Amino acid sequence: MTENDLSNSSAGDCRIKVFNPATLKLVGEVRCTHIDNLADIVASAREAQREWYALTSGERRKVLLRTQANVLHSKEELIKVIMAETGKPRIEAIGNDIMAGLSVGDYCIDVIESNFQERKVDYGRLGTAFKFLGRRSFISPRPLGVIGIISPWNYPFGIPYSQTIMALAAGNAVVLKPSSYTPMTASLMKELFDGSGVPEGLVNVVYGSGGTVGKALISSGVDRIIFTGSGETGRQVMSMAAQTLTPVTLELGGKDPMIVLPDADIERAVKAAVWGSFVNAGQTCACVKRIYVHEKVIEGFARNMVNRTSTLKIGDGSSDPTVSVGPLISEEAVAEMERTVAMAVGQGGKVLIGGSRVKRLNGHFFEPTIIGDVTQDMEVCQNETFGPIVALLPFKTEEEAIHFAWDNPHALTASVWTDDLRKGNEIARRLPGGTVMINNCLYTYGLGATPWGGSKGSGFGRTHGELGFMELVDSQHIHVDDGRYPRDLWWSPYDKEALDGVEQMMDGLFKGRPSEPALKLVGLRKLMRRRD
Ligand code: NAD
Repeated sequence: MTENDLSNSSAGDCRIKVFNPATLKLVGEVRCTHIDNLADIVASAREAQREWYALTSGERRKVLLRTQANVLHSKEELIKVIMAETGKPRIEAIGNDIMAGLSVGDYCIDVIESNFQERKVDYGRLGTAFKFLGRRSFISPRPLGVIGIISPWNYPFGIPYSQTIMALAAGNAVVLKPSSYTPMTASLMKELFDGSGVPEGLVNVVYGSGGTVGKALISSGVDRIIFTGSGETGRQVMSMAAQTLTPVTLELGGKDPMIVLPDADIERAVKAAVWGSFVNAGQTCACVKRIYVHEKVIEGFARNMVNRTSTLKIGDGSSDPTVSVGPLISEEAVAEMERTVAMAVGQGGKVLIGGSRVKRLNGHFFEPTIIGDVTQDMEVCQNETFGPIVALLPFKTEEEAIHFAWDNPHALTASVWTDDLRKGNEIARRLPGGTVMINNCLYTYGLGATPWGGSKGSGFGRTHGELGFMELVDSQHIHVDDGRYPRDLWWSPYDKEALDGVEQMMDGLFKGRPSEPALKLVGLRKLMRRRD
């Protein structure tokens, strides 16, 4: 995907021009950040982070509650800017962007205190032995410092807001580089944080192309990069981050399978398939992209899905609530959909509905498209299609459907549809993806308490929920020895007595019944009482 219009991108006076993809009208301009300023921005973020973490978790909680209130208070302004930058219908700006962000905000505010509580380590079968030794361990989470967030344009508020508020709840500062297609939403988001009383410099936004400002952020010394974007860019990000050993979380593309068993409620599955495939004009990492329907029911499913798809209104949904499909982000994206359809047809696929750009409209619109007669090896079934194109395939047995689901480079989410929840549960546990849903699809990004992320070509690491929180803190192990023995058995200088003792200790600790380690150690304590 090419970047939005960047004039003079390497010079200090570079500006990003933002166009509404539904109307092609210029909606604003944002000045790029000069990469020479990155070091100062990260340094002041570090300073602000110290001030932020010095507050009690109760105080931080109050500030973030005010941020959430600011979002609600400014929702009209926010909806307008999201719609202007992406062209998405109002219902999607509210439901998928703002509500997703608020939900994650709600979750992390709720757990801000409990997530920081120290946890005593359970040593398991060695517990009694360590008690004799006067030792214990704790896990103490502390903030990483400054989190660099690089985000895409498809959810210009939902993604960066949820990642930022989680990073802040975990005691960190943030430097965000939004997509050049959607800098204005990011700018408003920063205002909402600043207006809630976060220390100055805690939330920063840097603007510019990925190739300049994005790269500079990766090597700026931040303590983690959370990257959300394409697999191709994700590989570059990881390779750059390796140079400074900066840890990365990679939220990349998907090609999510939906498996419809013959006993599923077909009406309901079709409704979900239409929404799951064409929401956000198919520009969602977790959109349904491959629909596997049991051969007994695929004919009716296909007919029903085509009918329902034919009722979707395409257009500018900023003031028309009946619009269900908005534009693609750019002309390149539309051309890419044309290439995808041509390739699918060339490889034997059949366009069941859609397949073309919408010429009667000004913006970058493409028809919601269902491709039938697809086989596993076809590109439309293997590569990420970031637009409103879905592939429909039959399967014979559950084993075959599971095999098809795995036969893809991506693994972000998957879904299985059945009336038999026991069977659904069984199959779900054998499917690929960081999230598998039974009788639903896609929407769990909006659940703040549940983890988000994938594996294989969809990246690694998690955002949201407890697992997401863990990636934003350094979990420090604190080990306490009350010093009751003058020495440890394995301390130098070594001698025969110590060697025998260590050998006995190994046997004592790891051989035999669980109660034995402690008893064996009692015998060894005299060695630890030796005075050198
Ligand atoms: P993209 O990879 O083109 O860009 C993402 C971000 O990376 C942008 O801010 C861009 O400016 C920046 N960037 C580009 N090159 C860079 C570089 N060399 N170094 C550093 N930063 C760089 O992706 P996109 O077109 O904005 O977004 C669409 C992609 O994002 C799709 O593949 C989609 O599946 C994926 N996505 C994934 C998730 C998820 O949660 N897994 C969510 C949303 C989108």
